[in-house]
Amino acid sequence: MRTALKEAELAERLRWYINIRWLTAGILPLSALIARGLRVDVPLEKITLIALLIGAYNTAFFLYLKRIKSRYLVSIDLPQRAERFVLFQAVVDILVLTVLIHHTGGLENPFIFYFIFHTVLTAIFLPPARAYLLATLVCLSVGVMTLGEYASLIPHHHLKGFIPAELYTTPVYLLAVYTAFATAIFFTTHIVSSISERLKEGELKLKERTRTLKELNLRLEEKDRLKSQYVRMVAHDIKNPLSSILTMVDVLTDEYRGTLPEDALTLAEGIRKKAEFLHGYAGELLDISGIRLEKTLRLEEVELSTLIRDVLALTNQKKKGLSLKVNINPSSIRLVGDRQQLFCVLKNLIENALTYTPEGGRITINATLRENTVLIEVSDTGIGIPPDEIARIFDEFYRASNAERLTKGTGLGLSIVKLVVERHHGTVDVESTPQKGTTFRVTLPVNPQEVKE
Ligand code: ATP
Ligand code: MG
Repeated sequence: MRTALKEAELAERLRWYINIRWLTAGILPLSALIARGLRVDVPLEKITLIALLIGAYNTAFFLYLKRIKSRYLVSIDLPQRAERFVLFQAVVDILVLTVLIHHTGGLENPFIFYFIFHTVLTAIFLPPARAYLLATLVCLSVGVMTLGEYASLIPHHHLKGFIPAELYTTPVYLLAVYTAFATAIFFTTHIVSSISERLKEGELKLKERTRTLKELNLRLEEKDRLKSQYVRMVAHDIKNPLSSILTMVDVLTDEYRGTLPEDALTLAEGIRKKAEFLHGYAGELLDISGIRLEKTLRLEEVELSTLIRDVLALTNQKKKGLSLKVNINPSSIRLVGDRQQLFCVLKNLIENALTYTPEGGRITINATLRENTVLIEVSDTGIGIPPDEIARIFDEFYRASNAERLTKGTGLGLSIVKLVVERHHGTVDVESTPQKGTTFRVTLPVNPQEVKE
């Protein structure tokens, strides 16, 4: 099966091929010098010349690659062009290498096996049929050279001082070396081609799967958005009449207190409690669906003590007999954030502390400015959270068993806290001991825009 690579990866691999050729051009004269040092009679001048030739045509290839990269990077044409380019480079390399080997002993030269590197490279780049074609070209050109030298059609350049001269006149030796060479070339092509094809197939399948997952994710996000919209609409439509019911019950119990029988007032009180609960529930649903729908934060400068004061103004009077202490250090802490959403965070944490702390308890709010972060702690001396349930309290609708026994609630507050804090690139954690108390710790960056994701 033919598989195509992504454009950028292709261009990258082509550069890799060219870099290897630079290396070869540099190593050639160096190895010739070493051979001379070992008293092997190698033609240094010819080798240097061939190295220069390789350097020259590699420069041309390098420039051509730059051109096709800039021109065709976004075009579907690149894979075909790159393939043709590799094929052309490989043919040139094979011919030049054959000339080099011919001038340095032909089949006497053990470096003839360096053709294998070529075979590996082309089998990685090219589809199997082309890789086999090039392997055949390698065997043909080396075969023609060997036969030509053996039959004295072309001169044989013996490597004096390295190998006995008679070896080249021994057909069995030539046949054995050539067979070993040709089979090594074909085996390598076969092995590398199949590994490379399998890898490419795997790569493509993985990409396909990633694409499908991304599509599924997008569809899920869309469904989630629709759900949030629906919840918001319903919550909104429920909350408004509930507000009217609460006002009417207030009027009923306040203005008709003297005229209504006691039983009716008790019933009205019952209606108020249920309506209050539903009103709170609808409010939380509105909050969470609104925050979910609002994908971006409305960032502004928020003064923490003012924010805490506003939250307390709303929640403070709800419970009597609790001592409440606020420590803000330094007294004015400014941070960048979505005011409305941060309000929700503090409201939920403080309301929880008030709800889950029995009368006579203590609530402390500490805010401290650190280097680039603000630490907000809300502690209470309340009922605490059972250790085996603590991991779930940030889940939507989850309520711990001791809270469930104590009061009604929706279990949505802390999921709002977590969502908002994480959107601000902050963290929230909790420490709690049953019957002793709970501390929620929120860390927020002073400016979430400066946090690297
Ligand atoms: P609501 O959504 O109406 O606030 P809730 O308070 O039950 O209802 P969360 O605020 O999400 O929901 O809290 C989840 C659970 O975490 C609570 O039901 C309670 O079990 C536990 N919890 C939260 N804060 C405290 C606290 N300060 N002390 C003890 N338990 C707490
Ligand atoms: Mg709560």
